Amino acid sequence: MACLHGVAVGQPASRTNPWEPKAIGELPPIASLTDGMWLKGELHIHSRHSKDASNNPIAKIVDFSKAVGMDYLAITDHDNHVQGDVANHTWADPEFKSDSILMLYSSEWTTSRGHGNVFSATPYDNQRLYDVREQRDVVVEAVKKGLGVHLSANHPAGGNPWGYSYDMVESIEIWNSALWPKNANAVVIWDRVMLSAGRMVTGRGGSDTHHGIPDPEKGEKEEQNTRQAAYNYVGTPTTWVFATSRTSQAVIDALNNGRVSISLNPYAPRVEFYADLDQDGTMDMMMGDNAKSTGKPVKFRVQLAGSLVPGGTYTISVVKNGRKFEAFELSDGTATVEFTDTPAALGRTYYRVEVQGPPTPYPEVPKSVEISDNMVGFSNPIYFNFDPNF
Ligand SMILES: [Zn+2]
Ligand SMILES: [Zn+2]
Repeated sequence: MACLHGVAVGQPASRTNPWEPKAIGELPPIASLTDGMWLKGELHIHSRHSKDASNNPIAKIVDFSKAVGMDYLAITDHDNHVQGDVANHTWADPEFKSDSILMLYSSEWTTSRGHGNVFSATPYDNQRLYDVREQRDVVVEAVKKGLGVHLSANHPAGGNPWGYSYDMVESIEIWNSALWPKNANAVVIWDRVMLSAGRMVTGRGGSDTHHGIPDPEKGEKEEQNTRQAAYNYVGTPTTWVFATSRTSQAVIDALNNGRVSISLNPYAPRVEFYADLDQDGTMDMMMGDNAKSTGKPVKFRVQLAGSLVPGGTYTISVVKNGRKFEAFELSDGTATVEFTDTPAALGRTYYRVEVQGPPTPYPEVPKSVEISDNMVGFSNPIYFNFDPNF
């Protein structure tokens, strides 16, 4: 079986908080949960180097991303359009640079058995993955491990469903474009199949934008393709990572470790999910973390960070082991709710959170809020008794 997390370039093959029996006093203090930063970004977008994209040069994507405050960006052009030779296209483009945004090295591995995004902090040889795309999973996975890249299953229940083993991916795209409820089946695969079967696989988002917003000052006219950009562009949805530093490698480490939250757009509230294992008043775990259950009650905290829609009511749905566990309503500006539960002393337990409520306006992509069906955000799970080596 694959180790689903922690195989990052230059990093030891272990999670930030691996499953190990620990005395309560040895658990990380709250400082370890604040010793980092939330970075937001886009993990799935096509530039003009994808043949099915239009009006979307890299500079346009980068400028827009900067304008809406993105911290990192993964431009994921289809590798079949350039026969795997992405190194000579997306990141060889002189426009592939930014003075403020962390630029991941990425592509969309595009095969007849599904699409997967490759994320790397450094350039990698995409040709090697392209060359084995028709081969068996065990061959593909060996190449992926050799490259030291993060592989993520795209739109797993969409028009090009993921047909490889999920054991070879570190993450799943559970929210592709702002659209709901179309993504619900991707969540079923993630939650009811992979998490429930003991896989600590990270859920992430990505707009999968193919077309840029027309710029009238440059004489660009609105066409059928570019009209889509009013519904779907950079940040619909936005993926937040809790990174230990402002580096591309830290972004990928956070993706590997599941310290990831997804929000409708860059301005929508970010859902944060913590646990206080020993109920001493100090939160000592956050989403993505995995601990051995003590068989005693654990206090959980859900927090909406950022601006709430004034007068809005948010529904916080807690999912435990693939089933709805509890739901809470937050209104009048309240942004935090706490609950207590006892993870089983033996066997796996996980908890995750979904948030629904009023969509925060995104003036730069104004129609995106019309298709989101009030979905606001997802946390990744907090795990108990999961085996990270599974
Ligand atoms: Zn795709
Ligand atoms: Zn795509």
